[in-house]
Amino acid sequence: MTAIDRIKSVLGPKGWSEDPAEVSPLTSDWRGRYQGETPLLVKPASTEEVSKLVAICHEVGIAITPQGGNTGLVGGGTPQGEILLTTRRMNQVRDIDIGNDSLTVEAGCVLETIQHTAAEASRLFPLSLGSQGTATIGGLISTNAGGVHVLRYGMMRDLVLGLEAVLPDGRIWNGLRGLRKDNTGYDLKQMLIGAEGTLGVITAATLKLFPKPGEISVAFTAIDSPAAAVALLGHMKTATGGALSALELVPRNALELVVQHIPGTRDPFAEPHPWYALLEVGAARPGEGREMMEAALGEAFEAGLIRDAVIAESEQQARDFWNLREPIAEAEKAHGRAAKHDVSIPVSKMPAFMAEATEAAERMLPGVMIIAFGHVGDGNVHFNVARTEPGAGLDFAKSTEPVTAMIYDKVAKYGGSISAEHGIGIMKRTELAEKRPLDVELMKAIKTALDPRGIMNPRMIFGS
Ligand SMILES: Cc1cc2nc3c(=O)[nH]c(=O)nc-3n(C[C@H](O)[C@H](O)[C@H](O)COP(=O)(O)OP(=O)(O)OC[C@H]3O[C@@H](n4cnc5c(N)ncnc54)[C@H](O)[C@@H]3O)c2cc1C
Repeated sequence: MTAIDRIKSVLGPKGWSEDPAEVSPLTSDWRGRYQGETPLLVKPASTEEVSKLVAICHEVGIAITPQGGNTGLVGGGTPQGEILLTTRRMNQVRDIDIGNDSLTVEAGCVLETIQHTAAEASRLFPLSLGSQGTATIGGLISTNAGGVHVLRYGMMRDLVLGLEAVLPDGRIWNGLRGLRKDNTGYDLKQMLIGAEGTLGVITAATLKLFPKPGEISVAFTAIDSPAAAVALLGHMKTATGGALSALELVPRNALELVVQHIPGTRDPFAEPHPWYALLEVGAARPGEGREMMEAALGEAFEAGLIRDAVIAESEQQARDFWNLREPIAEAEKAHGRAAKHDVSIPVSKMPAFMAEATEAAERMLPGVMIIAFGHVGDGNVHFNVARTEPGAGLDFAKSTEPVTAMIYDKVAKYGGSISAEHGIGIMKRTELAEKRPLDVELMKAIKTALDPRGIMNPRMIFGS
């Protein structure tokens, strides 16, 4: 019996597929940038099944690419000849412990399901991002996802209490502890968080829950510049006593793309403005959020930090404001191919970085459009270089390579990171090796210790 036949027999007829109609949508990424292939799609339904199939792969040296919702943006879930392991059948909520403010879910659970489960128990699971209807907790943990609430609640790394994983030799590591304090040597779960599937398959997680805010107030503000956004951030943090949960920067060109490509959206202001900041405040009691937002924005207006503002009068209007920010990636995609740079910079240095990088990019590639938007409240900007006219193709992406190198040099100059929240995948392997050689050496040592046969997502982060 071949190893593939052994895997099929361990999983049973529902646990694998070779049907091109089912397999091929999973062998390319969300952006359509990476096209891959796989000899077999495996669909385990339990941790035990994952363990058995990984043990066979370890024994014979077959490589595996784990995949959740396939919304990753760095090519990490696209197999290139590896077995593709989807966690989609492992999607159960195992337990909710209200007294402990924790929730245990299987790896294939979709983020939106987790948010709803928490809300039904009057709790908040704060991770929130544009792909939340599809992204799974296993993928979110493996990429250490960020999103729009990092400012107040932190990244995925800060939201995980415990993990269960199948190690590269097939053994099950049960670290599903719902503890906030656990000083027992190395924090092994943190090694798997952000590892992009290179150290094992995450099969379940225990997550931190928070009190559900009594009221969420959302405002869309018009501002002069990224420097104004940073000044507004400082003001709002103090004025709301730490209740500010999001500050998202939106440039005029991104708003225009959204209004053009996303149905049901419109510019909330009568006049165009160069930049916008979307603000969200979460208050403990109903009524407090709106009051806090109004008072803080009044002061911001007096201080010349904002040009104009609209505060959402209803949940629908709040969703409408978010709908001007969240689909920017989709609107960009509809416009054409762009060179994307998910970078982080210390917040205080963000305006200088953005001004310098924009000026240099426009000089290097005359006529390009810089679409710089995102989670500026936590120092993360998606600094994207697009063609002004729609429909740019692969040749454009190639022509932007020197601009990418320039952007990463400026990121280094300002003490930033070339990957804020999307990970390294295969997209940024070369740059990571160049910028952080000792980090890569240490990561390789950990990889070799845990996965000596190199079967877990072997091409990612530093693989060849
Ligand atoms: C419209 C849009 C908006 C987005 N916005 C944000 C954002 O604001 N912030 C942000 O951080 N990201 C964002 N992303 C990126 C993406 O949603 C995240 O990277 C997400 O964490 C991927 O989850 P997934 O389940 O789709 O994982 P996949 O894409 O399936 O996999 C991602 C990586 O994790 C590995 N992996 C998946 N499951 C497991 C597992 N169980 N065990 C081990 N390894 C595993 C894969 O091998 C791969 O390397 C966005 C993407 C889109 C399309």
